[in-house]
Amino acid sequence: MKKITIDDVRNSFRNVPDFPKKGIMFKDITTALKDPEIFRYMADAIAEMYVNKGITKVVGIESRGFILGSIIAYKLNAGFVPVRKPGKLPADTWEVSYSLEYGEGKVEMHKDAITKDDVVLLHDDLLATGGTALAGIKLINLCGAKKIYTNFICELSFLDGRKELEKVSEVTSLFEF
Ligand code: AMP
Repeated sequence: MKKITIDDVRNSFRNVPDFPKKGIMFKDITTALKDPEIFRYMADAIAEMYVNKGITKVVGIESRGFILGSIIAYKLNAGFVPVRKPGKLPADTWEVSYSLEYGEGKVEMHKDAITKDDVVLLHDDLLATGGTALAGIKLINLCGAKKIYTNFICELSFLDGRKELEKVSEVTSLFEF
């Protein structure tokens, strides 16, 4: 079996110009996910970084944050919490508005999803401006948590989204574009 490198992972993302809007270079994760070795590498590498951090909940952001987020939670023996688009969660929710690289949105999380004793890992596929992840952190803080870590598979470093996030969370990613 070929040994996967981080360059293999980076190269497995497909560039789609002008999606979903003109001027955006979309990093398509589906070409990475369909490769079994790359898929496993990404999940293992992220879980490995958090193995000794006492994570009790992994919060995944809809929808690409659910894919590895649930595997990472399983590997860390943590619970999984979805942050969803409005109107999807059935019980009482907190709601936060945000803007992202190519638009604006709202996200929700169940009010009883996180408690003050939780050590939380917020996960999404990609960090661009950081707006989406900051909304996730606000939701977690509305519930209260002992500590929040934030992780992405990759980040668009030229957008500097990490700068604001690092003020409120410890941030990691596997690689940069
Ligand atoms: P942001 O809030 O600007 O950091 O945007 C991050 C969120 O939007 C993540 O959920 C990403 O999946 C998605 N996203 C933003 N820009 C891109 C991009 N260029 N390629 C792929 N996904 C993106």
